[in-house]
Formats: sequence, C-alpha cells, structure tokens
Amino acid sequence: MSRIAYVNGLYVPHADAVVHVEDRGYQFADGVYEVCEVRGGHMVDERRHMERLVRSLDAIHIAMPMSLAALGFVLRETIRRNRVRNGFVYLQITRGVARRDHYFPVPEVPPSIVVTARAADPAKGEAVAAQGIAVITVPDNRWERVDIKTTGLLPNVLAKEAAKQAGAREAWFVDASGHVTEGGSTNAWIVTGEGRLVTRPAESGILRGITRTVMLEVAQKLQLRVEERAFTVAEALAAREAFVTSATNFATPVVRIDGQAIGDGTPGPVARALRENYHKSAEIAR
Ligand code: PMP
Repeated sequence: MSRIAYVNGLYVPHADAVVHVEDRGYQFADGVYEVCEVRGGHMVDERRHMERLVRSLDAIHIAMPMSLAALGFVLRETIRRNRVRNGFVYLQITRGVARRDHYFPVPEVPPSIVVTARAADPAKGEAVAAQGIAVITVPDNRWERVDIKTTGLLPNVLAKEAAKQAGAREAWFVDASGHVTEGGSTNAWIVTGEGRLVTRPAESGILRGITRTVMLEVAQKLQLRVEERAFTVAEALAAREAFVTSATNFATPVVRIDGQAIGDGTPGPVARALRENYHKSAEIAR
C-alpha cells in the first residue's frame, strides 16, 4: 500500500512529500517534533504529547500554526490514510521557509507542518524487550535546552551510531559529574540493589519523556519505591536492573552497559512489570 504524508495542508504520496530547501528546519534545525505511538488505530497519550509540543514551540517562539483540534484531525487523518493499526505517527513543525538568515523571518512566514505515519510490528518490539538491549556510555555534549524536543539531534545521531558500531542499541549520555542524563532517544532508569527505582529528575539535563511520566504513575500503582535523582555510571553498573523508556520502546530492559552485564544479564522483573502495565496507564482515546 502506498504511504501518504501530510505536508503543509496537503496529503501527498510519501515519495512526493517534500519541503523547500530554504525551510528553516533543513537549514538550521529550527523546528520541533513529536512521536506518538499508534495502538489499535488510536494515538497513545495524544494529550500529553500535544502539551509538550505546545511547550517546545513556545520555547523557540513559533506560534502554534493551527488549533490543537485541527492538528489532532490531521494526525488522525494521516494515521487513517496510511491504515496504521499499530505503529507511530510523527509530527514536525518548523519556523517555515525564508531566505537563509539566522534572524527570525520578518514579516513572519507560516510554519511548515509535516506529519507521517508508519506501521510497526509489535512482535518485533516484544522480541527486543524479551532479549534486552546493550547500551554504551558517551559524554553528554549537548546544549542545555534538551527539554525542548527540537529536530536538532546531531549529538543524538552520533551517539546512537557509535552505539550501533559497538554492537549496542542505545547510548547513554553522561554529564561532567559522571551522572547519566538520558539515552540518545530514551530516558534512562535503574533498579538499585535495595529495589528502588531511580530516574533522573526532569527539571534539567533531559527531555521529560511522556513515557517516563506515565511509567512513574505505573510505578506508583505497582507500589514501587521511586527516587527521582541522578545516578552515576558506577551505580548503573552495580544495579539490579536497568532499562530505557520512550514512546517507541515503552520500557525496554538494558542487560549490558559498556559490555558489562547488569544484574544476571537478563531482563529483570521490574522492567517487565512496567512494560506489561504501561498501556493500562497510558491514555488511549477511542
Ligand atoms: N529523551 C530523548 C532524547 C528522546 O529523543 C526521547 C524520545 N523522543 C525520549 C527521551 C523519550 O520521550 P518519550 O517518552 O516522550 O518518547
């Protein structure tokens, strides 16, 4: 079946889905994005993703180009036209097309909006989670505003490629004080020897993952002891369990960090329980 993309007001064949070379997203990564899971044809946690989108746009002074209701319609329509039952919908908004110049365009130009959707086989994600993934650690060389979900992902791209070259799936960024911030495209968690769930506070140094927020609720329901604090690489290496969260990974166990086995080197019960209970706490509008 041919894929369809939404580009600035039009639904077009994926192969013809193009933006201008002077789009500021292309020239400067002057834009933001969201990725939302689609499950049974419905978006998971749309409300929270849209709230974060509004915050990201606000942070870089791009006016919301259409109402949230209209944007919700476009997302649903793109999912529908691609007949996605299970998969992901991607949304990107940039400052728009203007002659290349660092200053914001004057007068303002309309933001560019792109939406794509693609199916993903849930069985593949389950297989990865059942095995667990390896991660490497890399110095966090990103800017301070990682709370903004910007398309400027070069450090993340390089870190994840380094992970791949090392036979791992994710890279964990480590700050100057030796504490893990987050993954290249995931939030990072550990379970300590005392059974405490630890993840870094989202006030600085990380993107406040929607999945992270939902997992904190799941953890509360499961009556797990949670500590929102930074943890070191040494602490992670000595942890009982480690895992990552994101809209595309839910909770996926980490079984090796920098080549060293975590716990007994297999997925642990806490990560598994969080993964199994995640969709009960996520908001799925039907
Ligand atoms: N951190 C980074 C750097 C990410 O790119 C992502 C995924 N977009 C996350 C964390 C997880 O966020 P979410 O749970 O909203 O997918």
